[in-house]
Amino acid sequence: MKPDLDLQSRTMLKAAKLYCTKVRVAILKVLMKTDKPLSQDQIARRLGKKQFDKVTIYRTLESLLKVGLVHRAFMAKRAWHFELAHKCSESQCHPHFTCTSCGSIHCLTEMSLPMAKSPHKGFVIHRQQVRLEGLCPACA
Ligand SMILES: [Zn+2]
Ligand SMILES: [Zn+2]
Ligand SMILES: [Zn+2]
Repeated sequence: MKPDLDLQSRTMLKAAKLYCTKVRVAILKVLMKTDKPLSQDQIARRLGKKQFDKVTIYRTLESLLKVGLVHRAFMAKRAWHFELAHKCSESQCHPHFTCTSCGSIHCLTEMSLPMAKSPHKGFVIHRQQVRLEGLCPACA
């Protein structure tokens, strides 16, 4: 049986005390159906043409970020890439691996790294996000 993504996104929104708007459910579903972070443009493309305008998608992502359902995973080609936060811990996101040969991006959800210690006085670390580069299995 296929998981009911509609129900899942509604449950997530309710838990985060957000209204279940059509666009929020749609974006969460897009992010559930992929295994890697997507830029706003990629999300828009997967939502289908002209269903929601850019500003609506941007604002929706902001609201999902604010309640912690979605994380900014990293920036690539000048665009933030978003993903669901459920595979991250409170203090760190799982590392992301970029293949320098084919450019593919992988979520290393099984990998957890020791938290970095603050290097200087006065800095407080809240989150840790790590990116790794190298060759993916197909290119190695
Ligand atoms: Zn994260
Ligand atoms: Zn590769
Ligand atoms: Zn990821």
